Amino acid sequence: MKAKKRKSLEVKIGNLKIGGGNEIIIQSMTDTDTSNIKDTVSQIIELIEAGSEMVRITVNTEEAAKSVPEIMKILRDKGYRTPIIGDFHFNGHRLLMRYPETAKLLDKYRINPGTTLKDRNFETMIKIAIDNNKPVRIGVNWGSIDKELLTKKMNENAKLKTPLPFKKILLDTVVESAIISAEKAIEIGLEESKIVLSAKVSEVDDLVYVYRELAKKTKFPLHLGLTEAGMGLKGIICSAIGIGSLLLEGIGDTIRVSLMPVPGEKRTKEVEVAKEILQALGLRNFKPSVVSCPGCGRTKSNLFREIAYRISEFLEQKIKEDKKFLNLKVAIMGCVVNGPGESKFADIGLCLPGTGERKAAIYVKGKFKKSIDIEKAEEVLRQEIEKFL
Ligand code: SF4
Repeated sequence: MKAKKRKSLEVKIGNLKIGGGNEIIIQSMTDTDTSNIKDTVSQIIELIEAGSEMVRITVNTEEAAKSVPEIMKILRDKGYRTPIIGDFHFNGHRLLMRYPETAKLLDKYRINPGTTLKDRNFETMIKIAIDNNKPVRIGVNWGSIDKELLTKKMNENAKLKTPLPFKKILLDTVVESAIISAEKAIEIGLEESKIVLSAKVSEVDDLVYVYRELAKKTKFPLHLGLTEAGMGLKGIICSAIGIGSLLLEGIGDTIRVSLMPVPGEKRTKEVEVAKEILQALGLRNFKPSVVSCPGCGRTKSNLFREIAYRISEFLEQKIKEDKKFLNLKVAIMGCVVNGPGESKFADIGLCLPGTGERKAAIYVKGKFKKSIDIEKAEEVLRQEIEKFL
């Protein structure tokens, strides 16, 4: 059972709409030097092809800012309409002023209030966003929290009879920094429907705390993600739990899985993980689902695992040809203990014989269809899938 989705304001980013009940969008970020146009374009395309629906690039130097128009031109000429977001810190106000074409072509600016250094720099960036009719993401990060605000909160806390723990003050400052910055942007003249908020931290429980607070206190769409989630399995699990917990509560409009790729791994892994998170929660479907049991001492061979693996690949191929089978669910189970039960909730089920059983069984739409010899199991399953499709 899913919680009711939090109602946020709708924000248009390029050709996409986020928040306001729209589906949850996957974002990713390049790790190339943006001034290297060839590598940046190539990585953006890889991320888009993997399923990223918005891509953020860093705009940190004059050369990077100068390269943005060419990057945008190549992408658009190749037919990629995916919104491209510029990530600005420290010198963002100067770069956006000096490179008006870059300001005009980017689909959104990400501004970190902790690295704008001065209020007037923040104001400059917001005014440029207004002039170019662009949305901004006010992205607070606890690693670069507004020091002045934190000091003020710490001083207030010190005066309390029972001061609160430092961690709580820090997290509350993260939340407050995002809210105050959004209010400032509105005062400067930015429309409410041009603001997205994020407040990234690197621990799962802290992430859930800050986003619950933001969800309670604001109506802006929220971009979810752990910052520095880490690498490998740890990064995947922490992101899945953190982002997944919030999505289950109906909180979150866009997500990014900030994985550090391990050597040999592609940058696109973060997009694959984001897709799996959304699919596991039943929020979006990117491919047909294959349910299979882990196997145990009752399985007589690895056959059901091999079939499950091959059928997954077969379905991924099929889905490239025709997207209308995204919702298809196939169950491939090791034996009769849980096979029939699981097959009841699948479109097509295959239950292989475990200890003491001789035949495999096929289920269609939850009903037993026929018994088959084990040697024919995969072939018959494929035929049934083809018929179903
Ligand atoms: S369905 Fe059968 S083979 Fe699979 S885990 Fe359960 S008991 Fe073991």
